[in-house]
Amino acid sequence: MAKLTVTDLELAGKKVPMRVDFNVPIQDGVIGNDNRIVAALPTIKYVLEHNGRAILFSHLGRIKTEEDKKGLSLAPVAKRLSELLGQDVLFVPHTRGAELEAAVNGLKDGQVLMVENTRFEDVINGEYVKLESGNDPELGKYWASLGDDLFINDAFGTAHRAHASNVGIASNVDQAAAGFLMEKEIKFLGDAVDNPVRPFAAIIGGAKVSDKIDVVKSLLNKADKVIIGGGMAYTFDAAKGNKIGKSLFEADKVDLAKELMDEAGDKLVLPIDSVAADAFSNDAKTEVVDAAAGIPDGYMGLDIGPKSIKLFQDVLATAKTVVWNGPMGVFELPKFSKGTLAIGEDLVKVTENGGTTIVGGGDSTAAVQKLGVADKLSHISTGGGASLEYLEGKPLPGIESLTNK
Ligand code: AMP
Repeated sequence: MAKLTVTDLELAGKKVPMRVDFNVPIQDGVIGNDNRIVAALPTIKYVLEHNGRAILFSHLGRIKTEEDKKGLSLAPVAKRLSELLGQDVLFVPHTRGAELEAAVNGLKDGQVLMVENTRFEDVINGEYVKLESGNDPELGKYWASLGDDLFINDAFGTAHRAHASNVGIASNVDQAAAGFLMEKEIKFLGDAVDNPVRPFAAIIGGAKVSDKIDVVKSLLNKADKVIIGGGMAYTFDAAKGNKIGKSLFEADKVDLAKELMDEAGDKLVLPIDSVAADAFSNDAKTEVVDAAAGIPDGYMGLDIGPKSIKLFQDVLATAKTVVWNGPMGVFELPKFSKGTLAIGEDLVKVTENGGTTIVGGGDSTAAVQKLGVADKLSHISTGGGASLEYLEGKPLPGIESLTNK
């Protein structure tokens, strides 16, 4: 990899600012799911085992008012991290100031400190000033000054945004390196985008064409097949002149859909049938209908049908690299989850056959977790938005700002 990684750094005796992604679900101080904390452990442990003095930064939630700060302190996260690490984590309930500086300067080799939620800097004295989210130059410089001229960024989930706690710190140190998680993301997504083992198939689903159209366009230049599923497929169907009933539809994207279909030819693989329902409910009346026959009035397509599942399976049967983002239907309702779960199962087969499979986005990740197959796939990306922007071919500021080897 062209960027410095944590193993390139001399850590002993050094104060090391680290950006981690501890943006976990928290309700009344109770952490709903600590996956993200667990995922950051290898890099944190590496730093501590190499006698570094870790200064952890993370955001938690969104903060636009003083009120928002209540309930979004990282204190419960520091406590959980301490349990997972089996050592004390010194939590400082501030994002700057004398108490923080004294705590940092009191750290000994192998000790770890956690700074309060970086987004507390977005609201100062009740005013929404966005110092963290707006990458305020003074703030990044200040946080960098707490360390010894080096920085580790292990938060891929925010890599598509330039904030003070990633780009800001990185721009003010001599050595800014990727942590192990970040390194893995760059390796898997980077290889898929720039150097995939072919055939390379991408599967893009979800609700809206407008959200994913740039990804589809970019992938059409890189992949051998781009499979479309989910609600976004119906705008393509409408562009073909098929009846779509009351399915999701974006009128202003019809021309674009037509253009893409013309350009892509058989590279673009669309569903050929749907599970159509008369209501958005598990108790709905449903019918399986062919796309060409059209969805009856009063019905909407809520999942891909069995013929589409078979068609997609045939494409995936020979694939050696697969990237998947977005569900094939309203998978939250069991009645419309078949298509999404079938794709998850297919990805396991691709992986078992020696292929590389990469899943990004909260919904597709939830689907593979529901199936219990997450650990049978090559890589589950920790950043939905960041992985999409990476696939679009956009430079990610959090990665760009790391030091070249
Ligand atoms: P996205 O955030 O764009 O990946 O969209 C995910 C959402 O799209 C999920 O909540 C799905 O329930 C929804 N979705 C997928 N397929 C359909 C469909 N055919 N009709 C309506 N919503 C859908």
